[in-house]
Amino acid sequence: MQTDWDLVIIGAGCSGLSLALNLTKTQGASPKTLLIEQRKTFENDRTWCFWGADDAPYADLINKEWGRVSLCLGGLALDLDCKQAPYKCLTSSIFYDHAITSIKEQKSFELKLDSTLLEEPILKEGLWHLKTSFGHISSKSIVDTRPLATTELNKTKLWQSFLGLEVECEQSVFDPTCALIMDFLQPNTKLIGFNYVLPMSGKKALIEYTVFSAKPMSRLELTNSANHAALKYTKGASFEILRSEYGLIPMGIGSSLKAKQHGKQHMSYVHVGLTGGAARPSTGYSFQRIQTWAARCADSIKFAGIPIPNSKDNFVIKKMDHIFLTVLGTYPLLGPELFMKLFARVPTPKLIRFLTDKGTLLDYAAVVGALPKLLFLKVCFKLIFQ
Ligand SMILES: Cc1cc2nc3c(=O)[nH]c(=O)nc-3n(C[C@H](O)[C@H](O)[C@H](O)COP(=O)(O)OP(=O)(O)OC[C@H]3O[C@@H](n4cnc5c(N)ncnc54)[C@H](O)[C@@H]3O)c2cc1C
Repeated sequence: MQTDWDLVIIGAGCSGLSLALNLTKTQGASPKTLLIEQRKTFENDRTWCFWGADDAPYADLINKEWGRVSLCLGGLALDLDCKQAPYKCLTSSIFYDHAITSIKEQKSFELKLDSTLLEEPILKEGLWHLKTSFGHISSKSIVDTRPLATTELNKTKLWQSFLGLEVECEQSVFDPTCALIMDFLQPNTKLIGFNYVLPMSGKKALIEYTVFSAKPMSRLELTNSANHAALKYTKGASFEILRSEYGLIPMGIGSSLKAKQHGKQHMSYVHVGLTGGAARPSTGYSFQRIQTWAARCADSIKFAGIPIPNSKDNFVIKKMDHIFLTVLGTYPLLGPELFMKLFARVPTPKLIRFLTDKGTLLDYAAVVGALPKLLFLKVCFKLIFQ
């Protein structure tokens, strides 16, 4: 039977482009791949940060890294050395430019911008049929990276909502050697709020207001606090807002939803990305997990001809994250103190390994040992008997 494409990737964002980049690197013939993307152009719309050593993905594209990070709660400040796995930053526009240039160099790849699906794909006689804004096409397999709507994510345990402002000051006010990853606001019973400051230089920084809460928060709801944060960290210097970035990350989306995969129950169709299970439930960090998936998925397409979904977390991580999110959701007032305890009591290399899915059993034990036993036991009993 005549097929237009071996693989269609719906959505050319982080997951779609990362998979395409890995496929361009495979030895021999790459699958004939089409990327369908609704955007007309790629903007600098997000800043990806992650802990990574020199072998971290896209090491040559990283535009800034910090060997020190800090956290603050009230008068208490923690300053942590993370030189063994610095906190790295990759600006999305650098990644998009690199990915699009690499894809354009490949004859077997095509990226269609300003394009979308008009109907959900249908499987007929072993081929996927897609009705798109540029006509009918068929494909042997599909990787769907479209995010699910927040209304479909109603089992999400906590939402991470954030608004970042990239500011440039007239004079130098930031310490470019240290990233402030959590500067907690007054603890309260409704949400956990903190500011996040990534100083790119003495004059330039991304200043972000972040909230963990039961309901997602809109850009508008975060605007006042983000503006306050910009005023606070620029310390009276006059500044210009260069751009903003808004994000909404579901933390702990529930396994039934991940299995749903947009209703397509066939191994040649996978739903992946942020709402397909890519995000680490307890932190929302997804970038590195997407890179791990993209490399594995490219290998699977190359050797077995089928894409694979995001990997499942191991049993221990799944349970630990579930309990931690339940504690944060039930006792937001205690959230800032719990984070401070974790970072203060667990040696930084252990904590980084735990947060980046590389933890050993001893690292898990160190994390458990740092948290208040009675509170966590209470929540465990509640989870068992509810
Ligand atoms: C502002 C922001 C900052 C973040 N910072 C970090 C961070 O520091 N560290 C970290 O680990 N994670 C971070 N994340 C989380 C996560 O890494 C990113 O959201 C990442 O981009 C998720 O990749 P994705 O492929 O799932 O989604 P996306 O990158 O959003 O890609 C989905 C693509 O699908 C396209 N699309 C949607 N619907 C259609 C349709 N119907 N037809 C065609 N195309 C469609 C979209 O236009 C988009 O290009 C951040 C997220 C945001 C929003």
